Amino acid sequence: MSGLRFKAVEAAISRLDSIKTREKIKPSQDFGRNVFTTSKMKDYLPKNAYEELIETVDAGRSISHDLAEHISQAMKSWAIGHGATHYTHWFQPLTGATAEKHDAFFEPLPDGSAIEKFTASALVQQEPDASSFPSGGIRNTFEARGYTGWDPSSPAFIFETGGSKTLCIPTIFVSYTGEALDYKAPLLKTMNALDKAAVDVAGFFDKSVTRVFASLGIEQEYFLVDLSLFNARPDLQFTGRTLFGHMSAKGQQLEDHYFGAIPERVLAFMVDLEQEALKLGIPLKTRHNEVAPSQFECAPMFEEINLAIDHNQLLLNLMDQVALRHKFKVLIHEKPYADINGSGKHNNWSLITNTGINLLSPGKTPKNNLMFLTFFVNVIKAVHEYADLLRASIASASNDHRLGANEAPPAIISIFLGSQLNAVLDEVETARVAKKVKSENMLWHGIPKIPELQLDNTDRNRTSPFAFTGNKFEFRAVGSSANSAEPMTVLNAIVANQLIEFKSEVDKQIKKGTKKDLALLNVVRKYIKESKAIRFEGNGYSQAWEDEAQKRGLSNIKTTPKALDVYVSEKTEKLFEKLNIFNKREGEARHEILLENYFKKIQIEARVIGEIVNSLIAPAAFDYQNDLIVNVKGLKELGFKDGAYSSQLNLIERISSHINTILVDAEAMRQERKKANVLEDMRDRAIAYDEKVKPYFDKVRYHLNKLEQIVDDRKWPLPKLRELLFVR
Ligand code: ADP
Ligand code: MG
Repeated sequence: MSGLRFKAVEAAISRLDSIKTREKIKPSQDFGRNVFTTSKMKDYLPKNAYEELIETVDAGRSISHDLAEHISQAMKSWAIGHGATHYTHWFQPLTGATAEKHDAFFEPLPDGSAIEKFTASALVQQEPDASSFPSGGIRNTFEARGYTGWDPSSPAFIFETGGSKTLCIPTIFVSYTGEALDYKAPLLKTMNALDKAAVDVAGFFDKSVTRVFASLGIEQEYFLVDLSLFNARPDLQFTGRTLFGHMSAKGQQLEDHYFGAIPERVLAFMVDLEQEALKLGIPLKTRHNEVAPSQFECAPMFEEINLAIDHNQLLLNLMDQVALRHKFKVLIHEKPYADINGSGKHNNWSLITNTGINLLSPGKTPKNNLMFLTFFVNVIKAVHEYADLLRASIASASNDHRLGANEAPPAIISIFLGSQLNAVLDEVETARVAKKVKSENMLWHGIPKIPELQLDNTDRNRTSPFAFTGNKFEFRAVGSSANSAEPMTVLNAIVANQLIEFKSEVDKQIKKGTKKDLALLNVVRKYIKESKAIRFEGNGYSQAWEDEAQKRGLSNIKTTPKALDVYVSEKTEKLFEKLNIFNKREGEARHEILLENYFKKIQIEARVIGEIVNSLIAPAAFDYQNDLIVNVKGLKELGFKDGAYSSQLNLIERISSHINTILVDAEAMRQERKKANVLEDMRDRAIAYDEKVKPYFDKVRYHLNKLEQIVDDRKWPLPKLRELLFVR
């Protein structure tokens, strides 16, 4: 009966004999080999078309039809020249995965011959049958039209799978009536809003700044598990996490995995992954072990935010693909195993000008420091004002295990600054500046000298969800499986909004006759005062912080269905409408989709638990129990006294008790599901799944793990955690 488990373990062990990496590439030479970069366009476009393209992109204008025609022909020649046979619009619907529909370049002609064809209109716009993507009721199924529209700011690339090559064109995905049905469209809108707002504020200091973009570097954590072992665990297969399993005698308590030597088989996978990533222009730079056994991390160099997010989505696809070659499965679930660390996707975010200045990097002169402080404090203030919205942006069924669950940090949004910058803000807040500044010198007394910041790991707080790390903010609470576009859309939007308000407050003071620098400082100081509650330097995982945060009035919303409420609050709707990112209908639709995702995830988990319990665990438990019964009967027959088999009797009884509790709970859970399924309102349904169905998961897990420790190992059907985590 437990044959599958042992075959899987054997297969996993035997793989250690055949470790190999595939081709060797030269990173500097092959970087971007499969990407149609601007520099390659130069070779494929007529000179004047290329010049028009550069101008258009620099000015942020949209591309004309004529130019698109040129580009489509250039793209076709390049792609076909590199062996591509098909093309696809590549987009990011709200399912969470990327989507594509392939069309062949090949087109038959009436005379029986054929040509390769690709036109401007095929490049610019397509109408995939969109009815099966989530739309939260925006797009009725009878009017299934949705458009994908080319995003020229993210270059096309060739993706290779199973020996076939496809030209992938990054696109947005919107409904027939123009509402966003994806992650990218709203992100692009916030980038514009942020650009404009930041340029306006930067103008107080430096008129040569004409463009500001958000930079993003995404650290991706993940687990690896052997493919055969994965396939022998239906819970991993269908939910991405283990729903049961007693933690092995050795977990992560020795902390000997972090930054330790990477196992050879894993390294072979990483090398392969890096090579594929580099060919696709993903600048993967770092790789290392993470804290938990079999947990790893990779991170690219930061890029412009839209590209960084496309690259992260692409990287996830690539990881899956490359892992299969190495007979691994990548787990990007936030919490694949209870009792050891989960995985995140740290979003390192900053603001960079067209003149190459990082606005979140403290400068050497007081004037530069005032610019730094301005942007720095505006971000803090934005997070303070919209902490709940940021919390909502990272809410999902899987991330709930990392935020607010029993073995996770609380879901309180706070900001860690490090002792130096805290001191700086305190100094600015309390410094006495003359009401009327007569000389420049007087003003600068109000701005402390900012010491050279340590960019190394000395001043890090791993427990903070949102930390300043020298020249960027790191949003660490983002889940490993999330599309970063969601939290980054919110972050861009709230910072843009804050900068707009800041500008208008400063302008007002200047109008009244206050000197510019003093006006800036006044508003900075006001913001420091107003946003103090969000700053926290201590241990974010402690109970003391939960208590303290409550006193400060910070929210601690532990579960997704409730965290999402803020998406449809009046304050949020106003924000998004003001910045032209979502209208009310789009906001409501998104809310609905996220709730639906949530309840479906929990529903699948509940079903898998029911099935595993009934069809795998109960039979194994009964089987072993029968062995014990036969044993006891035999001993009795041979004339042994009662005392000689009291342990067996005790085991028989414990097995009965556990399996009985499990089966009763599984059935009770099924009844709760039935009740939840008929609730009309999506929020009610999600809450019912969270509050009525989900509590059974831990109960069942508890008793099942007890059984795992009693039942004959040879009869146990599911690979154990020690096998999943330590065979590699
Ligand atoms: P850590 O010490 O947190 O591991 P690193 O400094 O190595 O951090 O950077 C982690 C990520 O942050 C990388 O992807 C890196 O490229 C990115 N990063 C560095 N500087 C910036 C920046 N100015 N803006 C955005 N991301 C950045
Ligand atoms: Mg980091």
